[in-house]
Amino acid sequence: MARKTYTGRCPTCHQRTIRGPDQHGQPANVETLELTPAQELQHHQDGWPTYTATWAGTHIELDLRDEHDITYDPPGHRPIRVNREHRCDGRTR
Ligand SMILES: [Zn+2]
Repeated sequence: MARKTYTGRCPTCHQRTIRGPDQHGQPANVETLELTPAQELQHHQDGWPTYTATWAGTHIELDLRDEHDITYDPPGHRPIRVNREHRCDGRTR
């Protein structure tokens, strides 16, 4: 099954997000901001999920990152993009 995602805007705050299933088939809703390794580590400590966003030719695929990915494959290690889950603050932008 293709893991197709869609780029759109959060209906509440209108921030751009990427939505679709992750590698486990769980729904993901991810911001487009690219994280630095330090930002990702901070999010990990805060329990805020992060995802690798991979361009698959016609769409982006999202992979939930675990401790191993965060430690051994940080953003910038390969040409990967790491984004965080969208946590809506409910404010309209
Ligand atoms: Zn939102």
